[in-house]
Amino acid sequence: MTNSVTYKYYMPTRIVIGKDCITQNSDIFRTLGKKALIVTGAHSAKRNGSEKDVKTALDSVGIPYQVFDKVMSNPTISCAYEGAKLARENDVDFIIAIGGGSPMDAGKAIALLASQDIAEENLFSGNYEKKVLSMAFVPTTAGTGSEVTQYSILTNDKAQTKTSIASDLLFPTVAFLDAKYTEKLPVETTINTAIDALSHAVEGMLSVRASTISNALASESIRMIMNCVPDMLQALQSGSEGIFNPKKREQLLEASYMAGMVIAQAGTTVVHSMGYSLTYFKDIDHGRTNGLLLGEYLRLVEKSQPELTGRILKAMELSDIDSFQELMRALLGRREDVSPEEITQYSKITMRAKNIANCAVRPTEEDVHEIFERSFLDSSRRSRKKG
Ligand code: NAP
Ligand code: ZN
Repeated sequence: MTNSVTYKYYMPTRIVIGKDCITQNSDIFRTLGKKALIVTGAHSAKRNGSEKDVKTALDSVGIPYQVFDKVMSNPTISCAYEGAKLARENDVDFIIAIGGGSPMDAGKAIALLASQDIAEENLFSGNYEKKVLSMAFVPTTAGTGSEVTQYSILTNDKAQTKTSIASDLLFPTVAFLDAKYTEKLPVETTINTAIDALSHAVEGMLSVRASTISNALASESIRMIMNCVPDMLQALQSGSEGIFNPKKREQLLEASYMAGMVIAQAGTTVVHSMGYSLTYFKDIDHGRTNGLLLGEYLRLVEKSQPELTGRILKAMELSDIDSFQELMRALLGRREDVSPEEITQYSKITMRAKNIANCAVRPTEEDVHEIFERSFLDSSRRSRKKG
């Protein structure tokens, strides 16, 4: 007997796409509130024109604002509380987050913490009052899809990893997508963030929560990202981000929000959980960690569900997992050193993550250990030398 189809689909974020879409739709800000907190990283929003466009739009509709530009990469819990304090002190009633995933994730936590008192020990509990500030998001990297997800991922020192606040309250109200802000994104960040988006789409297909709609979005997102791979390889060779034509930048930004819509429905898998240790302990960029690990998880899945990996490889137009690994090697270069002792530590931490339950092929701690080993150790240093 086949199972009948059951799933939920919820995506409340309004999406506005196109060149100059912020200044051309400034009226939307009027619907969000009377005073804004603009949340950014230290530099990029000031350099790529996004913060200026937001300020121009706010000025044109007479909305005052305050700026919080202290969000670091992989934002900390204390950064979110600091931003929320500023929001309360200045009586702002909506948040505009501009940047990569870091300012956007911090912006979500700030929107929550500014509207209700949540003690730090309850921050990841999911038990909140139904109150949050409205949010307008402007992604300036093409990778995380945070502009359309209900997750805010923060560095959690107590758990020695990154932990997500997951709540429907955190879906941004509106996302403005203008690829012109990504034109000067450095080659390495372009590649790492594109691989993050690719990983979201692939992991969404590898999730027990995958559905007809999330798979449709995932396949198209994968196809669009793979279509930009030749530009990425060329940019690596030339060392210049200028190789990308604006159409390709648009494609990456669209593919990234579509992949965000995939994980909003299906969640991520063990690949993200494993990557959080690499970021927490070794400061390896988020998107890069996924590229370093995804291939070996695909190999594990292939053993019991070859038709599933077959569908993913087909969307990538690749013949096998070895070709995928070759591509990752070309895009990511030399892998970092990770010791056998570190692998044992990270494997234990990984098993405590929520995303393990999402995996269509659920890995044991031994499997996770083996994925780490195969991703980082020469065959001579692996504890299990078969295969
Ligand atoms: P990021 O940490 O937001 O930014 C990386 C770097 O890129 C920063 O130095 C930033 O500078 C710079 N940058 C951003 N936009 C730029 C532009 N247009 N031109 C030049 N430089 C630019 O990196 P990210 O990969 O986008 O985000 C990673 C974070 O997102 C991680 O914390 C990850 O856990 C999270 N994430 C969240 C979700 C979700 O669903 N919520 C999904 C995946 C990942 P500034 O600091 O000066 O801005
Ligand atoms: Zn990610």
